[in-house]
Amino acid sequence: MNFKDLNIVPPILKALSKENYTTPTPIQQQAIPAVLEGRDLFGCAQTGTGKTAAFALPILQLLSAQQARPNTQRPIRSLILTPTRELAIQIADNMKAYGQFTNLRSSVIVGGVSQKAQEEMLARGTDVLIATPGRLIDLMNQGFADLRHVQILVLDEADRMLDMGFIHDMKRIIAKLPVKRQTLFFSATMPPEITSMVDSLLVNPVKIEI
Ligand code: AMP
Repeated sequence: MNFKDLNIVPPILKALSKENYTTPTPIQQQAIPAVLEGRDLFGCAQTGTGKTAAFALPILQLLSAQQARPNTQRPIRSLILTPTRELAIQIADNMKAYGQFTNLRSSVIVGGVSQKAQEEMLARGTDVLIATPGRLIDLMNQGFADLRHVQILVLDEADRMLDMGFIHDMKRIIAKLPVKRQTLFFSATMPPEITSMVDSLLVNPVKIEI
């Protein structure tokens, strides 16, 4: 099994071979076809399993298959919520590497740094936005982040986001998204709060346990 067998398109294959990825990991083998088909997904997986590429690669592929947007009209089409700034930056670095031969733009929003550059980035437009919930809420409340065009939502390490007290921010962010969207939900553990979130947010999901 290689990435070509998963129907990954040439610009992304080129980036993967540059990164020396030859064989998809088990979560990638299961998740990539499901996400490319437009299915919702629940992945019970730890960091280190290759879960970032499991969602990042099919998202880049789905978005790049759509008509290219002029720079002035780049609505956020995929939103990735993650608990910590380190994870957000790591996911954004991966997205940029995997998408380097596509025309897609990925950007990151985290707390603890000046907001000004993030406002300017949002004004320029980005196809994929990777964010921690607190700073994204601040920017939304001030009218800088428009989430009305999001087609694919990822909740990464959802159990950690709950543990860190982000549940209300997550709910407020999700309330601003189109109801008709694809949702990918990752959690390393399955406490009752996670089960009920999965039940309320996902429609007929593919379930993957690694
Ligand atoms: P993650 O679980 O997403 O944090 O990924 C763990 C590490 O594995 C990261 O350093 C990735 O760059 C790397 N990785 C992910 N998928 C593959 C793959 N198919 N082949 C080689 N390395 C990979």
